[in-house]
Amino acid sequence: MTTNKLEVANCAGCGKMYRPEGLAIKLCPDCLQEYEGMLREVKETIKANPGMNAYEISKRTGISYSLILDWIKEGRLER
Ligand SMILES: [Zn+2]
Repeated sequence: MTTNKLEVANCAGCGKMYRPEGLAIKLCPDCLQEYEGMLREVKETIKANPGMNAYEISKRTGISYSLILDWIKEGRLER
């Protein structure tokens, strides 16, 4: 049996339709790349400034405060 159904989803970042291809993350490849880059930047900022809180990191990197909080909640950032 073949599953030839075209699976599409709306990107949570830009709203574009894309094929999720089994990935749990709700982002198109473009946004995913950007997202990974932001995550890396935040991680590096935390490493360089261990005393910074999420709000200060958000101000320093220009990355959304709520996104940083989500990452902390998901355990992507070590505190
Ligand atoms: Zn997108």
